[in-house]
Amino acid sequence: MVQGNKAMSKATESTVSTTCGYCGVGCRLEVHPENGVIASISPAMDGPANKGHTCLKGRFAHQFTRSDERLTTPLIREGDGFREATWDEAFERIVSEFTRIKSDHGPDAIAGLASSRATNEDCWAMQRLMRAAVGTNNIDNCSRVCHSPTSFALRRCFGYSGASGTFNDIEAADAAILIGANATDGHPVVGARIKQAAINGMKLVTVDPRRIELADYAELHCSMRPGTNAAVILGLANVVMTEGLTDEKFIAERTEGYEEFAALLAEYPPEEVERITGIPADDIRTTARIYATAENACLIWGLGVTEQRYGSEVVQLMCGLAMMTGKVGRLGSALLPLRGQNNVQGSSDMGALPDTYSGYRPVSDEAVATMFEERWGVGLSREKGLTIPKMFDAAVAGELKSMFIFGEDVAQTDPNTTHVIHALESLEFLVCQDIFMTETTKYADVILPASAFLEKEGTFINAERRIQHVAAAIDPPGDARTDFEILTSLSAALGHEMNLATPEAAMEEIAALTPEFTGVTYERLGREGLCWPVEADGSDAPILYEEKFHHPNGLGSFNALPYREPGEVADEEFPLILITGRRLQHYNAGTMTRRTRNIELMESDWLEIHPEDAERLWINEGDLVAVRSHHGRIEIPVRITDRIEKGNVFTAFHFPELRTNLLVGDSVEVNTGCPEYKVVAVDVRAMSEAPSDTPALVAAD
Ligand code: SF4
Repeated sequence: MVQGNKAMSKATESTVSTTCGYCGVGCRLEVHPENGVIASISPAMDGPANKGHTCLKGRFAHQFTRSDERLTTPLIREGDGFREATWDEAFERIVSEFTRIKSDHGPDAIAGLASSRATNEDCWAMQRLMRAAVGTNNIDNCSRVCHSPTSFALRRCFGYSGASGTFNDIEAADAAILIGANATDGHPVVGARIKQAAINGMKLVTVDPRRIELADYAELHCSMRPGTNAAVILGLANVVMTEGLTDEKFIAERTEGYEEFAALLAEYPPEEVERITGIPADDIRTTARIYATAENACLIWGLGVTEQRYGSEVVQLMCGLAMMTGKVGRLGSALLPLRGQNNVQGSSDMGALPDTYSGYRPVSDEAVATMFEERWGVGLSREKGLTIPKMFDAAVAGELKSMFIFGEDVAQTDPNTTHVIHALESLEFLVCQDIFMTETTKYADVILPASAFLEKEGTFINAERRIQHVAAAIDPPGDARTDFEILTSLSAALGHEMNLATPEAAMEEIAALTPEFTGVTYERLGREGLCWPVEADGSDAPILYEEKFHHPNGLGSFNALPYREPGEVADEEFPLILITGRRLQHYNAGTMTRRTRNIELMESDWLEIHPEDAERLWINEGDLVAVRSHHGRIEIPVRITDRIEKGNVFTAFHFPELRTNLLVGDSVEVNTGCPEYKVVAVDVRAMSEAPSDTPALVAAD
């Protein structure tokens, strides 16, 4: 039933050039395997994104590949535990359960999650499996919970769902505003490029509720209240307008909707913005002047912008700021979202989304759907599927009966953990495909052992829209298989033969069916990669919108969107705002990095709190505290630092035992359903030392 699992192995004992599988920077790596294990990894000197650098994750955090805890054989639930199974047994169980559920409840009772850690070809196979083999558009990926607001906003204002330039714009810029991104921790190599550019004279402004490391290299640091990004951008645009710093020619010739946008700006003078954000009015003025008067300037942002209730509106306002100053469409003037997962751009580009095929074409578009039907030889649904949060709601409501979760630990990384676990427990049948047991696999009925990025071939797309080759340096361990082989074989077992023998064949199909990938071939990717859209002759587009925007009329769209309060605000009961984010040493759920020697660099997490808040709450350095929100409670040790503003606390989510996401509620971004991870009202109390009548703080004003 299932083919031999080593068919696509490319393991050799010589150096293998591949792309890092951790973050969206997309560093090129030279991997040195020896006797079937990774001996060492070094940075590719000609890596287009990393230029001879890596961070300590890409270079050193590879020992997880041969961890004793790797999943090496399929597992089937038996009682409270699991028993080892053959691949045939595992597939037969999945086929029989999916067939039963489809027959009893229809295909929309099944949903799948593609992995943004996996390759484009894996994600392509996953969305095709769900659409063509199962028969539903219930397919989503983790961009839903990170940069879906960016994707939505860029498409709406400019036309394409991706950065307008590349990281090379950083060195070419005279100024940059970095907003809501701790780049030296979250995207270390780009963080280093920003730092280097600032040292070399680029005027940097950092806008963040934490005094991040790059603030030390900035001309100005603006510390704002969490959830007030929209007001910051509106204030900057107000100053640009009132001080006559607009690019009138660009506005007149290349855009539409400016008048309404400008009318809105009148409501946000710097003093009003100071009242909302806490940033001094003069700093708003200075930042606006730095950005607008620079010949070339970049806007760079991260999840501190998107994981908020109005994240997509903030990105649209940033697009407006760039257009009104004419700072888009040329080298050094780019809008650069720092995408989180290594292939979160690609998984969405591939159509692992409930409402769009590859290239963001709606599933309801008759011509597009018909094209896919003809290629795949099956009828396809025109109905939008469920987003990730809606999948969990539907599971709890008893409408969704089964999920196939590929490479996502939703029970740890998604918000409102209690609700997620309730959803997983409510399913009749859960399949997980992963490389380790996780918090999520605990609820599975069948677990399929998969491959890490160092064990497979394909492509990733980084935050620059750069498609880069991924090559196998070692084989998957034991009976584990490559994700591509699992998904294509399972699809065949479900009755839909994809006829894609290799990932390269999948890329040929992607190119044939997706306009932005028309000219992509593995051979053309070379060592530089290609930034989509790629024309039939192989020419790519590192800089978008040089002459026109990707809208039918060629114009960029201003959208007049007022500031609105975040979904949660501090109050008497929950007087502090919790912000969550990343640390340099670990990655996301820590599934991989905690199984490497990076654990010796950071063994556990902590809560950062301002000295004045700590003093008022009788909290000392290292104390264990209880953090309580509207949604849950956790216990965590404290570090006192003035890098966090008074009224805010910060922690990461790399350690499952802390269950940080228990605290995060169900407030989501208005257009995309992205959870509001960055603004959670909490109460913090010392566990032991504080007197029982420790007073609550007053709400941050
Ligand atoms: Fe990998 Fe990102 Fe580090 Fe580069 S910066 S080595 S892509 S984790």
